[in-house]
Amino acid sequence: LGNRLGDIFDRLRKRGALTEADVETALREVRVALLEADVALPVVKDFITHVKERAIGQEVLKSITPGQMVVKIVYDQMVATLGGEGAEINLLATPPVTMMIVGLQGSGKTTSTAKIARLLSTKKRKKVLMASVDVYRPAAREQLKILGQEAHVDTLPIIDHEKPLEIVKRGYEKARLEGYDVFMVDTAGRLHIDDALMEELVQLRNVLKPTETLFVADAMTGQDAANVAKTFHERVGLTGVVLTRVDGDARGGAALSVRHITGCPVKLMGMGERIEQIEEFHPDRIASRILDMGDVLTLVEKAAETIDREEAEKLAQKMGKGQFDMNDLANQLRQVTKMGGLGGLMGMLPGINKYKNQIQQAGIDEKMISRQLAVINSMTQVERKNPKVLNGSRRKRIATGSGTTVTDVNRLLKQFQDMQDMMKRMNKLGEKGLKRQGLR
Ligand code: GDP
Ligand code: MG
Repeated sequence: LGNRLGDIFDRLRKRGALTEADVETALREVRVALLEADVALPVVKDFITHVKERAIGQEVLKSITPGQMVVKIVYDQMVATLGGEGAEINLLATPPVTMMIVGLQGSGKTTSTAKIARLLSTKKRKKVLMASVDVYRPAAREQLKILGQEAHVDTLPIIDHEKPLEIVKRGYEKARLEGYDVFMVDTAGRLHIDDALMEELVQLRNVLKPTETLFVADAMTGQDAANVAKTFHERVGLTGVVLTRVDGDARGGAALSVRHITGCPVKLMGMGERIEQIEEFHPDRIASRILDMGDVLTLVEKAAETIDREEAEKLAQKMGKGQFDMNDLANQLRQVTKMGGLGGLMGMLPGINKYKNQIQQAGIDEKMISRQLAVINSMTQVERKNPKVLNGSRRKRIATGSGTTVTDVNRLLKQFQDMQDMMKRMNKLGEKGLKRQGLR
């Protein structure tokens, strides 16, 4: 059985790597998809160049075409670009934590301010005060007040003819004196960027010193969003993005443009007009919408699962036969975590349930993987094939070489030894199990 799986696996590998021509052809299609999703042209160019460098030479999975493989690489890259660190609203500051909401007129600033305030007060139990400094549009401040009543969040009482800077100072003082956790400032927008607006925002920022400056971008605006975001980021400095009208039928290219240009994470998305219609940002959802190649993605996911499964089964076979060495461990550490940890992998061997607890105890913690790989990488081939040769001085050398400690090295070796012991015991059970299933 082991050989048969091995053969199949070798044949899969021979499918080959992506050539430059494969990648070029597929990326032409991707480029059209991105432009149709209204991703800004410079962003499309950058993104395509980046993906191209990554894709050429990558292995093609079984049962999909090179073109489909490229789409998958594009998708993964897009999810990574859209996602990443810092997607939570940052509340790590001395209260009252200050927040400023900026963007063009009609992008959804006031609505989003109230939605976020409601989230913070219901989900995080924060005491929030909101204030609008939009003194230009009639009833703009009343709009926030009404939304605040709906959300059961306080708004700063309105004083006629008060200037934006005065509103911010008064609001901050109230928040500070009355023990509010968060003070949010909803700002005025314009239909287009203008200097007076930017100047005002800079002044407000200098007084408020916001922990978060959130840029509200309408998912429907597409191309324009990129330039607008760029200016806001350069002039005011942004810490995050709220993408609104994700409930509409826009493909959401603005998300990629804004993220790419400002480097700021999209933190939340507006999913409708109602106050509770706001969600955490889901990079995967937006990426498949931007690419609009859902069928391809499903197909590739399946192919990838098959490969994972075959590779894992091959490893399980090797383990069962006690042929498992440090090279296998290194090659498979990532694979193993993907299959639900060592427990999940060994569960494929017949008769293993009895040892579940032990396996879990010996289990590989995902966070330790990079350390463990570093340790193995610092071993010689001889050491990897036969860890028994690892005496004190070799262990010390490995620890130094891998930037870890001798304790780390010892721990890995202990774990490896436990695994081997367990495998020997399992092997007997496994033989019986395989015989019973008529596999041997
Ligand atoms: P502002 O000028 O930036 O303050 O924008 P507003 O908050 O006043 O919102 C403008 C319009 O967009 C209002 O009618 C909102 O109800 C609507 N709106 C805001 N966010 C969303 C959203 O996520 N989805 C939908 N469908 N409408 C939204
Ligand atoms: Mg407004």
